[in-house]
Amino acid sequence: MAQTKFLLDESDIPTHWYNIVADMPNAPAPVLGPDGQPIGPDALAAIFPMALIEQEVSAERWIAIPDEVREIYRLWRPSPLFRAHRLEAALGTPAKIYYKYEGVSAAGSHKVNTAVPQAYYNKQAGIKRIATETGAGQWGSSMALAGQMFGLEVRVYMVKVSYDQKPFRRSMMHTWGAEVLASPSNRTESGRKILAAHPDSPGSLGIAISEAVEEAATNKDTNYALGSVLNHVLLHQTIIGQEAKKQFALAGDYPDMIFAPCGGGSNFGGVAFPFFADKAAGKQVRLVAVEPSSCPSLTRGHYAYDFGDSVGLTPLLKMYTLGHDFVPPGIHAGGLRYHGDSALVSQLYHEKLIEALAVPQLTTFKAGVAFARAEGIVPAPESNHAIAAVIDEALRCKENGEQKTLFFNLSGHGHFDMASYDKYFAEELEDYSYPEEAIHEALDHLPKVG
Ligand SMILES: *Cc1c(COP(=O)(O)O)cnc(C)c1O
Repeated sequence: MAQTKFLLDESDIPTHWYNIVADMPNAPAPVLGPDGQPIGPDALAAIFPMALIEQEVSAERWIAIPDEVREIYRLWRPSPLFRAHRLEAALGTPAKIYYKYEGVSAAGSHKVNTAVPQAYYNKQAGIKRIATETGAGQWGSSMALAGQMFGLEVRVYMVKVSYDQKPFRRSMMHTWGAEVLASPSNRTESGRKILAAHPDSPGSLGIAISEAVEEAATNKDTNYALGSVLNHVLLHQTIIGQEAKKQFALAGDYPDMIFAPCGGGSNFGGVAFPFFADKAAGKQVRLVAVEPSSCPSLTRGHYAYDFGDSVGLTPLLKMYTLGHDFVPPGIHAGGLRYHGDSALVSQLYHEKLIEALAVPQLTTFKAGVAFARAEGIVPAPESNHAIAAVIDEALRCKENGEQKTLFFNLSGHGHFDMASYDKYFAEELEDYSYPEEAIHEALDHLPKVG
C-alpha cells in the first residue's frame, strides 16, 4: 500500500534556522524611523531583546537554535508530512498532493514555533512580562504557552470581534496563565483614542498591536512579541520547510508548487523559504502565497512604506499594504486580517520571485470541508485558503492530464473555529471583495517618506 505519512526522528529537528536574506538577489529594504531615515538596532531595544534584534537584521545564512528551544520543539516536532491519497482520489486528479501538518503543536498551529524562541530570548534578557496582540487567538495561545514554559507573564490584547467569536481560545490562554483583554481596551492611550472615535470598533490586528507596543514601550520590565511579519519570526518558522525537504527526500519526490495561507507571511516564509534556497540554486519550484479576497494585501495592496500598527507607533516597513488604518471585515479567518505583509515576502513578490493568489471566503470553506471529508483533519479557516488554491490547481492538472507534485502547509487545525463552520453550513457566510475606492483611499493615508 502507498505510504501516507513521512515521519522524521527527533534527531532530525533542524539545528539551525535558515535566513533567506543570504540568498536574496537584493538586500532587504531598510526599516525607517519617523524621520524617514534608516533606524539602527537601538531604536528597537525598548521593546525587543537584543538577540532578536540581531536576528532581525542578520545576513548570516544559518542561525543556531538554542538547545533549550530544540528541547521544547520535541513536544510536537518534527511535524508529519502527509500524502493526501484520499483527497487526490476524491478529486480524481493525476496530481500528487502533500501537506505538512502544523496543527500537531499543543497550541494548534505553527505559531508556537516562534513563540518558544521569543520567550526564551526575552527570559535570557531579564524581561518579566510580554505584551502581545492576537487576532484569531492562535498567536495569543502560542505566546501564553511559551511564556508559561519560561516563567514569563503574558498579557494578550485580543481583537474584539475574535474575543467575542472565540471564547474558548480565551479559556485556553487562561489555562496557560495569560491575561486576555478585548482590544480596543481602555488600558492604553491607543485603545482609548480608538474608542473615543469609534465606540463600537470591532478592533483589528493593527489596533491591538498599537496597544501591546505602547504597553511594552512604557514599561521597562515588559517587552513586545509579534506572531508574524518580522524577519526573525519568519526565520524561526523555517524549521517547517527544512523538515519538509528531508521528508520529500524520504518520499523520493519534490514539489513543483508550494502553497501556504498568507496573513503576515510567517507560515508561508517558514515552509517556502528553505525551498527558495534550492530555487536560488537553479531548481524549478513555484512558491505561492494565498490570501483572502477581503484582505488582499499582496494582490491588490500598495508596495510602500507603512506603519506596522494602526496608530503609527512602529517604525516604517516597506511592504504591500492596504493602509495601516485598514479595518477588515469580520471574515472567519482572523489570522489573515492584517493590513500589511512581511517585508521579506513583499520584496520577493515585488521582484517576481514568488507568486500570490486571493481566494473568496466561501471557496475556502468549501475546500476545507472537502479536505476534512477526504483526509479527516478539520483545518483552520486560514489553512483553507491554501487548500482552495491546491484543489484548484489539482483540478487544472486533471483537465490537462498533468502529474504535478503539489505541496501545502496545513498551518493549523480548526477545532476552535467550529462556530465559523456552523455559519458556513447555515449559509450565513458571505463573500466580500475589498472595494477599489478603499484601496485608493489608503494611498492618501500612507506616511510620506523620501
Ligand atoms: C496566524 C495563522 C496564519 C496566518 O499567519 P501567517 O503569519 O501568514 O502565517 C495561518 N494559519 C494559521 C492556522 C494561523 O494561526
